[in-house]
Amino acid sequence: MDDDKKFVIELRWDPTLGEWVMVSNVRSARPWQPTSFCPFCPGNEETGYGWRALILENRFPMLMELPPEPSTHRFYKTAKSYGKCYVVVETPEHSIDDLSDLSIDQISYVINLIGEKQREESEKRHAQYFLWFRNKGREIGVSLTHPHSQIYVTPFIPIRVLRELNNAERYWHENKRCLFCDIIDIEKEDKIRVLLENEFWVSFMPFYAHWPFEVHIYPKRHVQLLTQLTSKEIEQLAQILKYSLCGLKNLFSKPMPYIMVLHQAPLKGDHIFYHLHIEIYGMLREEGKLKYAAGMETGGGNFTYDSIPEYNAIRIKEKIEKCLNH
Ligand code: ZN
Ligand code: ZN
Ligand code: FE
Repeated sequence: MDDDKKFVIELRWDPTLGEWVMVSNVRSARPWQPTSFCPFCPGNEETGYGWRALILENRFPMLMELPPEPSTHRFYKTAKSYGKCYVVVETPEHSIDDLSDLSIDQISYVINLIGEKQREESEKRHAQYFLWFRNKGREIGVSLTHPHSQIYVTPFIPIRVLRELNNAERYWHENKRCLFCDIIDIEKEDKIRVLLENEFWVSFMPFYAHWPFEVHIYPKRHVQLLTQLTSKEIEQLAQILKYSLCGLKNLFSKPMPYIMVLHQAPLKGDHIFYHLHIEIYGMLREEGKLKYAAGMETGGGNFTYDSIPEYNAIRIKEKIEKCLNH
């Protein structure tokens, strides 16, 4: 009985897939809160007043700066869950629906704030990776509607990023070019899947989209880290992000539930063959129909796409154009 109550936060290695699982029972200690209470609104204990955006420590983290000793096992490998979990409160205004409803200026402010946090975290010895992500929509389990995203600073490289790094490194050695720069060129040549472009960025639905309305946003310049972007580039990232998300939001009668993630190079070491980008996975395949990562996707690991990306790209593009002319 007491074993269930024991505080456990550790990494467990899956030797069959070769990847870490973050184990923490901190969350189950989450206190009951009335549903009307918002911990991200101004004037709370942690938030205070007089801010445009805030980065708070997640009170129920999966990772900690000083984690306790992990459990030992006669066969399995465990490790300390060094790291940080943050919540990015993107505006003081509770009732704003989405990142796309903020001004370009406010979105730039948020991205700059995240960049500052990344600079600070990169200095830490165990920090290997800085993952900024955003979950949106009740359909995918988001209960706090106040606009926010999250940051995980991990002591390992997330597995999907690791796969990208390995493929990009191989491509770099075989072709003497960046895989992602080549993808950008091809998408711009094909045109049909390109959604929006500005001076420094391009957004498109990749040829190989996994999710029904998947959008990737790439800087035209070959850069690896968020902290390498210029203020002009950040401003235009805010613009392309705003309108790409606005297109997604207006596809169906209800806003699109989505997951957004920044893929960038690891914090330590040289990864010149990598090229940062944002991936957005719009999860409705049609009005009211959620695409699930089910048997084939979760069990097998390969996605099925129930339409064709070229057709869905045109549908988003029409909505983006409306957003731009609004
Ligand atoms: Zn709020
Ligand atoms: Zn590149
Ligand atoms: Fe990626």
